[in-house]
Amino acid sequence: MVRYQPNKLPKPTAMSFSNLGLSPAILHAISERGYTAPTPIQIEAIPAILRGGDVLAAAQTGSGKTAAFALPLLQLLQDGPSQKPRRLRALILVPTRELAQQTAESIRTLAQANPQTLKIAALFGGVSINPQMMDLRGGADIVVATPGRLLDLIEHNALSIGAVSSLVLDEADRLLDMGFTDEIGRILALLPKQRQNLFFSATFPPAVHALATRMLRQPVRIAIPSLEQNQPAIQQRAIQVDASRRTQLLRHLLKENKWGRVLVFVATKYAAEHIAEKLQRAGIKAAAFHGEFSQGARDEVLADFKASKLQVLVATDVAARGIDIAQLPVVLNYDLPRSAVDYTHRIGRTGRAGKSGIAISFISADTEAHFRLIEKRHQLKCEREQIAGFEPVVVATSANTPDAKSLIDASNGGIKGKRKSKKDKLREAAARDLPD
Ligand code: AMP
Repeated sequence: MVRYQPNKLPKPTAMSFSNLGLSPAILHAISERGYTAPTPIQIEAIPAILRGGDVLAAAQTGSGKTAAFALPLLQLLQDGPSQKPRRLRALILVPTRELAQQTAESIRTLAQANPQTLKIAALFGGVSINPQMMDLRGGADIVVATPGRLLDLIEHNALSIGAVSSLVLDEADRLLDMGFTDEIGRILALLPKQRQNLFFSATFPPAVHALATRMLRQPVRIAIPSLEQNQPAIQQRAIQVDASRRTQLLRHLLKENKWGRVLVFVATKYAAEHIAEKLQRAGIKAAAFHGEFSQGARDEVLADFKASKLQVLVATDVAARGIDIAQLPVVLNYDLPRSAVDYTHRIGRTGRAGKSGIAISFISADTEAHFRLIEKRHQLKCEREQIAGFEPVVVATSANTPDAKSLIDASNGGIKGKRKSKKDKLREAAARDLPD
């Protein structure tokens, strides 16, 4: 079971939870959880949600957004009539199974002091549907679900969403990025028209903006400044290195810096396994973390990483999305993320809840243009560094680097016409890694 460590606040606010309109039972749960003061998003979102209106919030993972919607939802359910049999009243859609489990677990902890016993179910794909169907017998008050599995369960008549009064879209940008647009449309069509909508997203590319406009009615807008402006705590570094020497450089950095735990991002499952294996052979406690692991294997790896039994987790974007690991000091882009949105999500794994963190990107001559694009999107300029003994043979210059502008895909920050097939990526990864 995934457990959170309560973190310290980014900047202690003068506000207290008791000024936000929360009930004594909820305030008790908050203090039990160890939260002393609300985070900025909680200060704005909690009263707005308690008033029953729609909310549109720009929120990073690590901002305290889960409690920002969970606390007022719990109170609204507590104040509403108790229902027999239970009818689903709050639905939270999330992009990944890890996030579904973590969010449900977090809500369960906060719901413990609730006078009404609430049933909170986590529904996600990649595991057998039967236990989840069993779990839904007798109904649920709150469901945290990934969209595909939710629809499967509705088709199996395991639950109905026809009485939902509050819908939360958590990490809306990632939900769309992961291709859930159709599923979300089908779910919206099954929900009652009269309902509260809470929309949380780290970034607002046009597709996310369009969905928010379609879903929300006169929302209270909460614009938490973007990660780059808001979190000087994250130091962003770009290190130039030849692609073939990245694993060696990673080992060197691990040794030199004595980092406690490092989350390393790679582009493919193959690369995750291959690099984790090479690190293991060098005596480093490392493991791969990707989407093809069984749920049990993922939970185990994550628990070991959280308990610091593993120093390095080599992960793909899909697998690592949404995982909450308190005080992660370093995130390293071994392969660059495909889009500027993914870059934000990756570096959001460090510097969490006010702890300082380092986000490092390895840049080679052929990824320089792509990194410039990411910098441009985030109005960021990282000085290029070189590490003694690992200076690249070929350094990107404007002469050998394609014009970044010509690569922009305006819709999602990806690379136009350059999207590689899985096979291409595997071949590339294999070729790149050979000399190490
Ligand atoms: P989230 O942005 O919801 O993923 O939350 C990030 C982390 O901050 C989680 O580990 C939460 O338990 C923690 N957290 C949320 N709200 C507070 C608060 N008011 N004070 C301290 N920690 C918090």
